[in-house]
This record gives sequence, structure tokens and C-alpha cells, in this order.
Amino acid sequence: MIDSWLNVTFLHKNLAPAGQLLHDALSQKTAVMAFNFVNMEVVHGIISAANEGRRPVILQVSQSAIKYMGMNYLKAIVSAAAEESETPLVLHLDHGSSFEICKLCIDNGFTSVMIDASSLDFEDNISVTRKVVEYAKNFGASVEAELGTLHGIEDEVDTPRQKAKFTDPVEAAIFIEKTGITSLAVAIGTSHGPNKGIRGKAHISIDRLRQIKNEVGEFPLVLHGASSIYEDAVELCNKYGADIRDACGIDDADIRESVKYGIAKINVDTDLRIAFTGAIRRTLETNRSVIDMREYLKESTIAVQAMVTRKFASLP
Ligand SMILES: [Zn+2]
Repeated sequence: MIDSWLNVTFLHKNLAPAGQLLHDALSQKTAVMAFNFVNMEVVHGIISAANEGRRPVILQVSQSAIKYMGMNYLKAIVSAAAEESETPLVLHLDHGSSFEICKLCIDNGFTSVMIDASSLDFEDNISVTRKVVEYAKNFGASVEAELGTLHGIEDEVDTPRQKAKFTDPVEAAIFIEKTGITSLAVAIGTSHGPNKGIRGKAHISIDRLRQIKNEVGEFPLVLHGASSIYEDAVELCNKYGADIRDACGIDDADIRESVKYGIAKINVDTDLRIAFTGAIRRTLETNRSVIDMREYLKESTIAVQAMVTRKFASLP
């Protein structure tokens, strides 16, 4: 893994690829938290919490987040974060939809990318993923891929169709072998967004995860759509004017259980959105004369930091 680092052209010397961190997490029976960000304040909050908690962290961006910030601003923010970070830091592309976008990110110094060709059929997914792995190798960057499909709330019901979208354990082993990826995102019942089903019901199929682990062995698996959607955080938003209904996430206990069966990277986006938004709403509502953006963005930054700390605390 480290032998291909000779060509290193990462954005910043303090940035690391994800591979070693994920394997370390596996052997330490824990996971690395991956947080999506869209601005400087979110990154401030994440890095402060990571430094305080002495936890490595994966900073990740979706394609739409790259579009929103602009690649140059994004790179400047992450370079600054790498200067400030006292723990290992990864810059990762979340859900790259093509070889081209993965290449663009690697060319811009990302240390890790996800190629999400999970909507293609198995063989096509393998061939696109392989192409990204081959390219990333030249730079020492890590590659995450996905097998299976995550659902929104409308598909959360326990139907055969949903089961058919779960990651197939045997296919997972073949996929890893044929592509040479660093980590694999699995579909085991979680979903993106704030509505992950009905509160109180288990949303992760630990059975399926156990079967996958049996087939793939000690290999880093990734849990997408893994926000917990804490009731108190949603209530704070709603108290100050939001209308977030039927919000429901993954219990921390389920997350901890999943880590026992190979989940080494946990993606969190919605929890930070709710924390950030709740703090802004409260500040604007309780201080109606405020016009200095720093007043409410400072509160959002603090809220993100507290949420990241809470996520760290939820890990085994
Ligand atoms: Zn995802």
C-alpha cells in the first residue's frame, strides 16, 4: 500500500490516504468517521472536535458540494484544515459517479475517492471501478466502491425488492478481488437523508453484514446513510421554526454492532446538517437584531463540533 506513495501529489503533506487508517480501525475494533462538508464553518467544527478527541477523520465532499464551493475554495479550506489538524486527515470524494470525476479529484490532490457505479450491472461496475483503481494507484490514493443500493424511506419497508438490493456477500468477495479497491460500501438497510424508517425498528441487517464479513474476511466495509438523527437535535430545529417530520436515524447501538462485523468507515452528513441548522435557527430567533453573520455561524460551528464529538463518543 505504501510502496506506491513515491508519486505523491496530494493536496497537502499532512493528508493521508484512507487505506491504512481503515485497516488500523479494523484491527482496533473501531471505525473512522467520515463527515461531509460544504463550507469553512463545518470544517472548523470537525477539525476542532478531531483535535480535541484525538481522532482521525475523513473530510468528504459530494460532487454537488464541489460545485457549490468551487474546487479552488475547497482545496484552500482543506489545505488550511490539514495545517491545523493534529490527527490523520483524509480528503475523500463521496459518490463519484464516473471515472472522470474521480480522476479530476485525484488530479487535484484528493487522497481518496469513491466510485459509485452501483447502478450499473455487476460486470460494468467492476470494470469502471477497476479503471479508477488503476489510475489512483499512480498517486497512492484510496478507492471506495459500492455494491448494492441504498434506499429512501419509501423503500424502507421490508419487501423482497428491498432485499434484492442488499449487497450480495458472494458478489462482494468477487468484486473486491477483481477490482483491488481499498474499501467497499455495503447496502445493509441504511438509507440517505433524515427519514431512515420508523423509530425504534432496527435498520441495519446485521445478519447480512455478518454474511458479507464471512465472505470478504478482514476487509474495510463502509456504512453510508449512517446518521443517528438524534431526537433532541431535530426538536431544537423544530422548536425554532423548522418542519422536520418523521425524522429517524440509525441507533448508536446498531452502529456499534456493525463495527464488530467489519464496518470501518461511517458516513455522517445529515446529523451535521441538523446541528448546524438548529443553531442558526435558535440564534436568529432569540436575537432578532443580529445581522453579523459571525454571530450565528459561530453558534453553528460550535454545534457541529459538539455533534462530531457526540459521533466519536458513539464509536466502540
Ligand atoms: Zn452515501
